[in-house]
Amino acid sequence: EPTPVKNFLQSIISDDLANGRVSEVHTRFPPEPNGYLHVGHAKSIHVNFGLAEANGGCCNLRFDDTNPEKESQEFIESIQADVRWLGFQWEGEVRYASSYFQQLYDWAVYLVEQGKAYVCDLNAEQAREYRGTLTEPGRNSPHRERSVEENLDLLARMKAGEFAEGEKVLRAKIDMASPNMNLRDPIMYRIRKVAHHQTGTDWVIYPTYDYAHGQGDAIEGITHSICTLEFEDHRPLYDWFVDNLPVTSRPRQYEFGRLNLNYTVTSKRKLKQLVDDGVVHGWDDPRMPTIAGMRRRGFTPGSIRKFCEMIGVTRSDGVVDVAMLEFAIREDLNANAPRAMAVLNPLKVVLTDYPEAQVETLVAPNHPSREELGSRELPFTRELYIDADDFREEANKKYKRLVLGKRVRLRNAYVIEADSVVRDAAGEIVEVHAHTIPDTIGADPADGVKPKGVIQWVSASHGRRAEVRLYDRLFNHEAPDRGDADFLRHLNPESLRVVEQAWIEPALAGALPEQSFQFEREGYFVADRFEHSADQPVFNRTIGLRDTWNE
Ligand code: ATP
Ligand code: MG
Ligand code: MG
Repeated sequence: EPTPVKNFLQSIISDDLANGRVSEVHTRFPPEPNGYLHVGHAKSIHVNFGLAEANGGCCNLRFDDTNPEKESQEFIESIQADVRWLGFQWEGEVRYASSYFQQLYDWAVYLVEQGKAYVCDLNAEQAREYRGTLTEPGRNSPHRERSVEENLDLLARMKAGEFAEGEKVLRAKIDMASPNMNLRDPIMYRIRKVAHHQTGTDWVIYPTYDYAHGQGDAIEGITHSICTLEFEDHRPLYDWFVDNLPVTSRPRQYEFGRLNLNYTVTSKRKLKQLVDDGVVHGWDDPRMPTIAGMRRRGFTPGSIRKFCEMIGVTRSDGVVDVAMLEFAIREDLNANAPRAMAVLNPLKVVLTDYPEAQVETLVAPNHPSREELGSRELPFTRELYIDADDFREEANKKYKRLVLGKRVRLRNAYVIEADSVVRDAAGEIVEVHAHTIPDTIGADPADGVKPKGVIQWVSASHGRRAEVRLYDRLFNHEAPDRGDADFLRHLNPESLRVVEQAWIEPALAGALPEQSFQFEREGYFVADRFEHSADQPVFNRTIGLRDTWNE
């Protein structure tokens, strides 16, 4: 049973159901297929599908495809995959605003016949001048009083391709003096001589969003058309069309505050620029705030839905701290990701007392508190790798790792004590020689000298090499696109560091793409969705163990 979402939209819906305005809830999610979905869309998806689910209704997926130039089949496919991956299923087949082009055209003719729409020849600049300003009323277009017959003829000829782009538009005849600019005879159709991904070359006139959207809602029987706040001023126009057309259902528009995340850009135009300029490696680069990028980064659908629940739905815009999103995935993975060991900056340790040919198969639990996640085998051998940062020749008491002459516990294995180092010609330490303390698996040393800390390790003979991609925030500025200044100057130069030769415990090579792990003491990592294989393991860092940005 889905838990009901408690917010102002749910209150509206509850009232509508209680007083009989609607008998069932039907919402829609209406992306324009001009880019990949991003985390802001996830909020809208969660709101639309979530409210439908919580109220026993359904939600359509409708491509709002009225701008053919910027749209494509690639985006149509990625959007469907992303919605499904988030765990939502739309009602019936996917819908396209373009499937309604003929009906929309017929209704435009209807408005012309009613004297409520006209063909206007003003060019863009003139139209802007006639439109007036927020403080000055607009003026009527000189073409506003054309006869119905003339308008019908001109509209038919617009449709037939007789005019050039920009030469004519169809406008609704509402009120040039309205204080709401959206009601000053808004454009319904413009001429665009471009092919459309769904309708080919059938049309050379395309409806505007304002004209198409509410009518699409009416055709589909949408009861609650939920959009973001910037459309609030468009609502009177939305209602005007529905009120003045013979539509068979009466949808209503409601607005909520869009998601803005700090350290993140969510404008599709800017995301596209990041892709086109090669700043990132595609729309699904793990640093992108796209659903596909987050997926590849190792976010789970559950963590994204949890995040959407945490931020809630309000009637105002605000900025959410990206740390909340990071918290949601960290919590999820802490609870669910199996533990494993990886060494990202390898330093060899030779256990001089340990027989060369010996291999001990230790068993380690996959999760500290969830027995049902099982265990895995860890081969223990004379030569191991530890992280170079986990060894020092000398250190003070705060350093709880391996120090010459001191002890440390190898996670899930023995306590060892470091005896000496081996250096290369340049004086760099290339090996640490150490010995094991007997009988210390799961037990303290018998002599009472306790180890200083616990570190991860990987068998040098049985471990595997892997490429590990250390991702971090793409921007190092809280508001990278504030004021629309060049947001690229706020790129974090350390958003990706590739470790080409990390060592991982052998069980990790068998990870399936998209499987997540906690690499102990390192963070949460996911086997890359596309490039990981048992032969060439590739892991992406999803998120560190702690929030290091707000410390
Ligand atoms: P962009 O500005 O990134 O191009 P958009 O609003 O034009 O976004 P659409 O594809 O039209 O993109 O969006 C589909 C739906 O998702 C719309 O209902 C829109 O209001 C909603 N949406 C888009 N961005 C956000 C956001 N940041 N927060 C909440 N909802 C959003
Ligand atoms: Mg839009
Ligand atoms: Mg847009």
